[in-house]
Amino acid sequence: MKGFAMLEIGKTGWIEKDIPEISPVDALVKPICVAPCTSDIHTAFKGAIGQRKNMILGHECVGEVYKVGKLVKDFKPGDKVIVPAITPDWGTVPSQEGYPMHSSGMLSGWKFSNYKDGVFAEYCHVNEADANLCHLPEGVDPISAVMLPDMVVTGFHGAELAKIEFGDTVLVVGIGPVGLMAVAGANLRGASRIIAVGSRELCQKTAKEYGATDILSYKDGDLVENVMNMTCGRGVDRVIIAGGDNNTFAQAVKVVKPGGIVSNVNYLGEGETVNIPRVEWGVGMGHKTITGGLTPGGRMKMEKMARLIASGKLDTKKLVTHVFHGFDKIEDALMLMKDKPKDVIKPVVVIE
Ligand code: NDP
Ligand code: ZN
Repeated sequence: MKGFAMLEIGKTGWIEKDIPEISPVDALVKPICVAPCTSDIHTAFKGAIGQRKNMILGHECVGEVYKVGKLVKDFKPGDKVIVPAITPDWGTVPSQEGYPMHSSGMLSGWKFSNYKDGVFAEYCHVNEADANLCHLPEGVDPISAVMLPDMVVTGFHGAELAKIEFGDTVLVVGIGPVGLMAVAGANLRGASRIIAVGSRELCQKTAKEYGATDILSYKDGDLVENVMNMTCGRGVDRVIIAGGDNNTFAQAVKVVKPGGIVSNVNYLGEGETVNIPRVEWGVGMGHKTITGGLTPGGRMKMEKMARLIASGKLDTKKLVTHVFHGFDKIEDALMLMKDKPKDVIKPVVVIE
């Protein structure tokens, strides 16, 4: 089969590989719609997960089941499915403890384009199909649905980890596709005020459409000062970090109130440590919680998120700024994500 791969750090290209073998509980899926992710860029060009040779990229996919193992009960060839970015090993202790994304070790639920070939291929292997695949619901089109495997669940996970309560004031740092879904998630959870941080106009406009009440550019003055001024010196109840750098943590800790939560879903690519300001963290006694997580995976999560689209409560189409047609366009879409011109939020490739 053909696939678009990371050949080594800094180098990508088309390669030929054998079609993956499946075990009795697995499925082989033919991607029909895929999306490149900022994480693919970090993986391929920044060496975020270390060296990988000839590994097919991609982990955001809607597809058609091509083949299933003999123990798979709920899926059959021809079924249209959403494939989560994270496909945990469900029979492990960490999964039973409620952390399936770390099912066989830290971050190990992330298999596609990490431990095995990803979805930018003619076929992809899905482990534990009954637990990890999700039927594409009636009335949900593949382009809207392909925002579910990673963008929706990750942004919403930011809101979940932040434990947003009715009436909370929430700061969302970063309003790329992940941050925009964090805004949407915060809005659905009942935040009264959502301050969204990003510099690109299209993202700012889209953030408002998803429920942001205030917009700030991190390029326009001091972020901490701006947030404190906007909140009459009180700070915010919750911060969701979906962009920025290590310094963003310090800013988040400074603006969150005592008792507040800073929830990170951003990938931290540099430095040995994360900067937590001692005084603003209450010299260690401020009851300011700092948390962060890899996106949850699996079938139940996908089904629930998909229902939000099916019911009309979430419109993911606003994230999709570019639609390419044809398998060979995967490279163009990925490069668009790499260069990130002002008019791009998320590109999608419709394969058939
Ligand atoms: P984007 O690059 O599209 O968006 C990043 C956002 O951060 C933009 O709004 C950008 O603003 C903003 N930003 C950049 N620098 C700063 C700064 N110094 N201070 C404040 N804001 C800043 O990324 P995505 O939305 O695609 O992904 C966000 C992150 O989530 C990535 O690190 C990605 O790897 C990670 N991720 C994590 C997952 C998980 O499981 N936890 C899953 C998927 C992705 P602008 O461009 O407008 O200037
Ligand atoms: Zn992704």
